[in-house]
Amino acid sequence: MAELFRVGGKMKIYTYRDPFNLKSEEFWKEISQYPNLCVSQTLVLGLTQNPKRNYVRSDYNYIYTIDKLIDQLYGSWTDDPPNDIKQFISYSNEINQIEDPNIRNTFQFNRSSVVQSIRMLIELGISPEEIPNLEQDSMNIFRTIYSNLSKEDCWNVLNKIKVDKSVLKKAFEDLLEEEIDELKKNNPQDKNLQDLCKIKEDPESIKMDKIVIHGVHKFTPMITRFINDLRSAGVEIIFIINYIDEFERIYETWREVYRWTGLEIPKSSRTGISKNNLGEAIACLLEGEIKNYYKEHIEFIKFDNISSFCDYISEVYSEVDTSKLRKNDKRSRIFNMRQQFYIVNTEEVNNILKQYHPEQFGNRHFLAYPIGQFILSLYNMWDDKLATLKIDGNHLKECLSIGFFQQPNRPNPLEIYRKIEFYYEHLSIEDNYTIDKLLDKLKILKDNIHELDKRESVKKSSSLIRRFAMYTLTIEEVDYFIDVINLILKTSKKLFGDGHNKVNFKEHYSKLIEILTEGDFDPSYLIEEEKKMIEDIKYRISLIEDEDIEFEGSIEDLKESLHFYLARVESKEERKDQSSWIARNFEQLDGGVLLKDATRTGRAYHIGLVGDLDMNITTRDLLPWPLTEEFFTKNRFGNKNYIATITSFKEYRNFIRYSLFYATYFLDKKIIISYVENRKEEKNKPYYILDILGLDAERYDDRKSKIFRKRLRPRVENKISLPISLQSTKDEARNFLFCRYKYLIEEVIQGGTYFESEYHQNLYYKTMLFLNSWEKLQGKDISLVEDVVKKTNLELKKYFDSWSEINFIDAENKAIDEIKKRQIQRDQYGDYRVRVMKDRNDDYIETRRKFIYAKIDQKGEKTQEKGRQNLIREVMYLPYEHDIQNEIYNFINYNEGIEKNQEIEKCEYCAQNNLCLYGFRENE
Ligand code: SF4
Repeated sequence: MAELFRVGGKMKIYTYRDPFNLKSEEFWKEISQYPNLCVSQTLVLGLTQNPKRNYVRSDYNYIYTIDKLIDQLYGSWTDDPPNDIKQFISYSNEINQIEDPNIRNTFQFNRSSVVQSIRMLIELGISPEEIPNLEQDSMNIFRTIYSNLSKEDCWNVLNKIKVDKSVLKKAFEDLLEEEIDELKKNNPQDKNLQDLCKIKEDPESIKMDKIVIHGVHKFTPMITRFINDLRSAGVEIIFIINYIDEFERIYETWREVYRWTGLEIPKSSRTGISKNNLGEAIACLLEGEIKNYYKEHIEFIKFDNISSFCDYISEVYSEVDTSKLRKNDKRSRIFNMRQQFYIVNTEEVNNILKQYHPEQFGNRHFLAYPIGQFILSLYNMWDDKLATLKIDGNHLKECLSIGFFQQPNRPNPLEIYRKIEFYYEHLSIEDNYTIDKLLDKLKILKDNIHELDKRESVKKSSSLIRRFAMYTLTIEEVDYFIDVINLILKTSKKLFGDGHNKVNFKEHYSKLIEILTEGDFDPSYLIEEEKKMIEDIKYRISLIEDEDIEFEGSIEDLKESLHFYLARVESKEERKDQSSWIARNFEQLDGGVLLKDATRTGRAYHIGLVGDLDMNITTRDLLPWPLTEEFFTKNRFGNKNYIATITSFKEYRNFIRYSLFYATYFLDKKIIISYVENRKEEKNKPYYILDILGLDAERYDDRKSKIFRKRLRPRVENKISLPISLQSTKDEARNFLFCRYKYLIEEVIQGGTYFESEYHQNLYYKTMLFLNSWEKLQGKDISLVEDVVKKTNLELKKYFDSWSEINFIDAENKAIDEIKKRQIQRDQYGDYRVRVMKDRNDDYIETRRKFIYAKIDQKGEKTQEKGRQNLIREVMYLPYEHDIQNEIYNFINYNEGIEKNQEIEKCEYCAQNNLCLYGFRENE
């Protein structure tokens, strides 16, 4: 039986031992008469949607998440994008007054954090005057900024909101109305609908004297403010928490975070039942007792990196048979996954999963569509001081990937960019790598290709320079690409003007929409959804009042506002429904546990990111700069709300530990726990408690996953009609022997070998200089070597105008050295002469032309084994050429899988290394 302690009369705490038996607690009758608020949407579902456990919606009158009610009451502060923009602009104007450029830059760079800090202090009721004048420069500046901003209207919205019982009542009625509307829209047959309508008809029967709050551990500034406001309005707060008193240490965190209430947490008189599971072992370990548990119920997995973990989740998500589900029923799709994911830190994982499965995360933000990405990239590349675009490879690729630029029978501009990208990569180190500079470079490239064309038509053979990716382009392709780049530049100039100006937001966004719909672009490339969203944005822009002069700011402010303005109108339900996230956070675990038997039984719970680095969240991680833990602990502020917030932030890491215990204690069935080994360039370890309890993680081999296998198999079906007969050239046969995957990409898909990366291009240049010089030197006296190599280098270097001198000097030295050491022989008069090429096996020359080297050593112990030193000996000599031809035929026509080369030493020199990544994997 739960006990009740009262101090002060306006708050009380009830505890329960077993979440599945909440309804048998004595307090149940009392709490079901009043509105209930839950810490998460999953908990709302757990308490209302599990008839097997006897939890149904009709048990309550109002039951929503606490955040939902907060938005309802304080929406003009918590959920008003135009006001957020005004705050950003006023902040920008304020920091522009800072004289010291370094401090100004710091405050500019951290603008989101500082704005968040000021909002936090306002929510906690700490005024700027209460911040002591400290030595610390940045804190004094922060104080001045806060003090100046607090005079402006947009920062004073929250303090004007008053909450009393009638406001509270109205907010609940509105939420009920929303709930009924959603049900009518999505599930008109729902049997709860009738009950809800009855509540709606008789709102007076629900008293606002008490509000029940379930499971809050993290007292965010808005939650503490809300509680404070309720208490001032004479509403009694009833906190409901889980508490098993014999596990003192694990539950200590709850005592800590509720200390501010002045209430003691009641100890239950019930005795516990031994569960013999991991949860119990964790709790006992903290009490200093080692307890055995059933290890066979636990699967512990180690993922290499976050993408491999996301691939795994994505695969489980994709397996759900949606044919039996209601259309667009995102929640059911999640609950039907064979594994339910709960992870410590959801943001990073869900951001990746959003890219894989945008359909699950609500309609996408406008900026997530190709057209949105295009716009975002323009804004990100625009340099207002230089009044032009500064090249950033990733952003430029986003711009090039939209359909606007694709012309019939022309290659994709993105493919063209890929061929020149690495060649110009080092320019990005320079500060001013602008789009104009790229245009100049492209003109030089075009002239070089033109000259190469002329030379080759005379010689009637193609030069080795064609093995460099940028020289596989034709003049027409470069011309076309120059046009595309010019169009991007023209568009950005039209949009941003000459720079340095304040921009009126309404005018700017209207211009943007005009460019997208009426400018040089062909709007037929917009997909239907994009067109609809543009209309929607147009409408919203028209609502900005002309006289609202505050809506003026710098381009930097504009970038900040972009997300707000171009957001689609989505319902709050969609935005805040974290229960529909593919991977839910730990705060939703208590609800998740309650949902255990809600649907089919075969589901396993997967608790993810349980590594030391992820589990040990510090107060620093939770506080925005420049606020720190000391700021709150060393100062005394009038309003004591901050104590609840800071204590709960400090205790957050213990809450994470508690959540792991909670899940592993109350979920009896098989549990999967995992962690990711490589986290943000650091090596992660399993959470220390799991380590002490002797759980060994098994590495997940993602080559088993369908997603990985899919990536290994490029689609070849459309490229080749089957069966085909072919006679491969020696070059192709060599490539086939080198690696089938490489063969497929280069000979079948790409139409030849060429090198893109800086590393390979450098190596290939050395080979080319060596071969070209040798050709000229055949039979000549050794004394001429240096002179000829230098001249040849001079002839070639004009084709590589983006390289620095050091590349050429290095190549020159290597070529001289190689010729003198390896290609010299004595003639009949005893003079040293350069060997004639014919005297050396043709195979050697051909192999060098194709693969950079004709010998690739096997490193490690096997070097000692006879005959194994050159890994590509067979590639060079093609001993069974006839058999290889047959094999290629069978491979093209009948083979299903593609074997990759197993000797990773070869991968280092393979032009597909960056795409295939096989060499990197095995090296790890
Ligand atoms: S990197 Fe290695 S495995 Fe991949 S294509 Fe090249 S040679 Fe083959």
